[in-house]
Amino acid sequence: RAKRRGKSRSSTFDTAMRQEALNTLRTQMQLREAIVRQQFEVYYQPIVALGSCRLTGFEALVRWNHPKRGIIGPVEFIALAEETGLIVPIGQFVLREACSQMATWRRRYADAGDVSISINLSGHQLGSPTLVTDIEQVLEDTGLAASAVKLELTESTLIDDPTTATRILGRLRDRGIKLYIDDFGTGYSSLSYLHRFAIDGLKIDKSFVDMVGRDDRKAAIVPSIVGLAHNLGMGVVAEGVETPQQARELTLLDCAEAQGYLYSRPVPRDQAAALIERRILCDGDYMR
Ligand code: C2E
Ligand code: MG
Ligand code: MG
Ligand code: MG
Repeated sequence: RAKRRGKSRSSTFDTAMRQEALNTLRTQMQLREAIVRQQFEVYYQPIVALGSCRLTGFEALVRWNHPKRGIIGPVEFIALAEETGLIVPIGQFVLREACSQMATWRRRYADAGDVSISINLSGHQLGSPTLVTDIEQVLEDTGLAASAVKLELTESTLIDDPTTATRILGRLRDRGIKLYIDDFGTGYSSLSYLHRFAIDGLKIDKSFVDMVGRDDRKAAIVPSIVGLAHNLGMGVVAEGVETPQQARELTLLDCAEAQGYLYSRPVPRDQAAALIERRILCDGDYMR
């Protein structure tokens, strides 16, 4: 009896595994099709100067506009895109689209001359032999200044292949492109690479920002990261700011910039343009 139960359990397991493998395969095929059919879209989430709430830039965040399922967020497909290498063409699309859009905005809005565009770069893209020339080509085609572009990399991306990363990032930085560490503090942190890769700024992960204002030891993490950024002459952005209290605390800590639902969710380009026109993304009551 026990044997039979064991067997049936394992065949249930097999069925579940097979189902999951089929789902993955189906999503993978749909991803390939989505690239051909150009079903990806770029959403833009504003980044503001803390205190003044003045818009300083946007982060480009990819969305999959699925014909049946509607708008799908990156958590549902980025991991698979990374595994299959499909992140390279998707990332190339995001790069071109976001740079082209920012160039348009800078031409259209006289006072958007200092608004930057932040773009996420995966490890696969960093390993692509054409990355630097691809970016140069995009800047040339769109007329966007290199100084308008911030590339976001995670700690694990840098650690995977530090030799390649040093070479490629050095070339990008020579052209005036800025480099930021995304989700800072969540990965394998080695402080020496901040210097080695000549990093321009840190983005403090939401999980730490959520600890701001708590009265325990965890509350000390954000001030420490902000202090580290200051001491190394780097910029610092708090991610996932949702409440006025968090914004107040971060301002008192002298954190330079913030991004989060408090200011705006990621939005399609027309709504992003409206945010450029508004320029100040909070109502002033929020520091009281
Ligand atoms: P990320 O680069 O750390 O981007 C920030 C994520 O936090 C975004 O999720 C954003 O919508 C979310 N977020 C921002 N503020 C708040 C807030 O106040 N509360 C909460 N709960 N969430 C907030 P999203 O758009 O789902 O993107 C998830 C991740 O997918 C990104 O994390 C990034 O790692 C990856 N990703 C997105 N677009 C691209 C891309 O074009 N290329 C690559 N390689 N990765 C991308
Ligand atoms: Mg990012
Ligand atoms: Mg992040
Ligand atoms: Mg994140």
